[in-house]
Amino acid sequence: MKKLSVLFLFALLTAATARAQNSNKAANIIIVSVDGLRWKEVFQGAEKQLITSKKFNSQDSAERINKYWAEDQRERRAKLMPFVWGVIGKSGQLYGNRDLGSKVNVKNTYWFSYPGRSENLTGYADPKVNSNEYPDNPNKNVLEFIDQQKGYNKKVVAFASWDAVARIINRNRNGIMENNPFEDVKGDDLTQAQKLANEIQHYEPQIWGNSERLDASTFAIAKSYIMAKHPKVVYLDLADTDDDAHEGKYDFYLDAINHVDAMLSSLWTYFQNDPFYKGNTTIVVVPDHGRGEGNQWTSHGSSIPHANDTWLMVLGPKVKPLGEVKDNGQIYQDQYAKTIARLLGFNFTSVNPVGNEINSVVK
Ligand SMILES: [Zn+2]
Repeated sequence: MKKLSVLFLFALLTAATARAQNSNKAANIIIVSVDGLRWKEVFQGAEKQLITSKKFNSQDSAERINKYWAEDQRERRAKLMPFVWGVIGKSGQLYGNRDLGSKVNVKNTYWFSYPGRSENLTGYADPKVNSNEYPDNPNKNVLEFIDQQKGYNKKVVAFASWDAVARIINRNRNGIMENNPFEDVKGDDLTQAQKLANEIQHYEPQIWGNSERLDASTFAIAKSYIMAKHPKVVYLDLADTDDDAHEGKYDFYLDAINHVDAMLSSLWTYFQNDPFYKGNTTIVVVPDHGRGEGNQWTSHGSSIPHANDTWLMVLGPKVKPLGEVKDNGQIYQDQYAKTIARLLGFNFTSVNPVGNEINSVVK
């Protein structure tokens, strides 16, 4: 009898510890926004007409052809995005391959950056949000919603290659630590890596003026912060893909995509080797809009056909391992905010009509 109750007590304690670990393990998430990356490059790899074009390559294209081209489509896309196809394609989910009947679209009618990112984060395609110069976003976003949940306060942070992101997430309203181009991360306990990341961003060439920072600098500031501070929610907003595409440089655009893939791999590898993140961290990767086809690949906006065709990637412990999803019907970007909250166990609501959770994502 005595022996039994000791066993019983032990069982209770074990269950309680497991519960505590589970709730402790409840979920970190990193959301990576990749500006204007087309579904075509994600699912089909480099496009022959563009990678061989004299007009659209600023350097000798032989090097890029060697690096990114293969006749076989699966081989070709894995050359461009080896982490995406080697890891997310096997253990996570990819939506948006229109050849397989998987449709993802922008819901807003503008098909450019501020409205697209706003839709992603607020769950609402607000017709008033119609300009990249739009002031502070009046709509509630999922980042500030999570920041208000127990255990997440001050643990939601953002890093951006484009300065409009401060307005899109409205840091003036919610006080979220959002690091904009050429701003130093503040603190009297910065690591050496953080100090160096702060410093070197000021030495990069300001190719697109002072409103945009190269993704390499944004990534260094973000990753050094993650390693030092262990935030639970990170929004990483990258922009090289869109800038290179607007300039009509397909070789640089391909490199930017390949670098985004390497950054995802770098973060994921770090998460799997860090006790704080291991086994309880999800990555969500989304663009803000698509781009045109053929010679219109450089551009987007509502006058460019197909610039509303997009994609979605998710990888994490609560994500069903569906790989490349077929025939899933229609997904709209206004569904991301609620889905992101659900991955952390929360129900995102707003005074706005928010898009439904994507049911096939969470286990
Ligand atoms: Zn954009």
